[in-house]
Amino acid sequence: MNYRHAYHAGNFADVMKHALLALAVEHMKKKDKPFFLLDTHAGTGMTDLSGVEAQKTGEYLQGIARLLATDTPHPALTPYLDAIGALGGDPLTQYPGSPALMAHLARPQDRLAFCELHPEDTQRLRAYFRRDARVKTFEMDGYTALRAMLPPKERRGLVLIDPPFEDRSEFAALTRALDDALRRFATGTFLLWYPVKDPSVSGAFLEHLAEHGPARTLTLELHVMATNPTRMTGSGMVVVNPPFALTEQGPDGKSAALSLLEWLAARLAQAPGARAREEWLRE
Ligand code: SAM
Repeated sequence: MNYRHAYHAGNFADVMKHALLALAVEHMKKKDKPFFLLDTHAGTGMTDLSGVEAQKTGEYLQGIARLLATDTPHPALTPYLDAIGALGGDPLTQYPGSPALMAHLARPQDRLAFCELHPEDTQRLRAYFRRDARVKTFEMDGYTALRAMLPPKERRGLVLIDPPFEDRSEFAALTRALDDALRRFATGTFLLWYPVKDPSVSGAFLEHLAEHGPARTLTLELHVMATNPTRMTGSGMVVVNPPFALTEQGPDGKSAALSLLEWLAARLAQAPGARAREEWLRE
């Protein structure tokens, strides 16, 4: 395992992933009934943006730093930006990862499980949440966690699957894991992040889901430049059982998620070809 998320924290892909995640979790709070949040590939919880890793790549400068410099943020960014404001410091020095965002948004009656396989990252994750009785952290393979922890006793839940994609076999692992997880918990909301590099690879994954995947599956993509198979030019999120907060149509006939991603594409563009995309793989 070579991947360390600290190099990428707060980049355009994190912004896209975390803004959609925050919107989805916020929506679940509309009902009082407790819910379960599972983050299968959690990272450390919080990244110091002044640290060696984040400074080495400077990726956050093209992501969260550009977003915070905009005057009037898109309304769908409210849960994400409120959490960043509460957790990250002013000026932003700490970038909250998905587990920190989930824990910030969840209520006292909700339950959270965070899995991470890198021993150092797990230690930091554990230290960050040591005083939060709602949270359990596990040094454990995220795909094994899906089998062990689903269905949740609450029968309401959201699962984020955000693997490092160190090799191409991750797409196949993700497909198998989703298939199995849905057999256990068909009504859950699942968010699966994937990189857009070589469109033939992510395209094959999406085609497979369109043919064999579950009903009510949507994919959302944010491209910050034209596709180029040698680098990550876009960020994708498959959403199974998307909450209404993402699919709700605005007066222009666009879903809230597409309208948000188009807004982000205009602000986070790095070269010509930036755009947003939404496609129902299965309705
Ligand atoms: N979800 C985090 C966020 O949004 O802030 C970022 C996660 S990062 C993309 C992927 C994480 O998965 C890394 O921290 C890596 O160490 C961890 N990892 C790699 N293989 C894993 C596995 N099989 N099970 C659980 N975690 C794994």
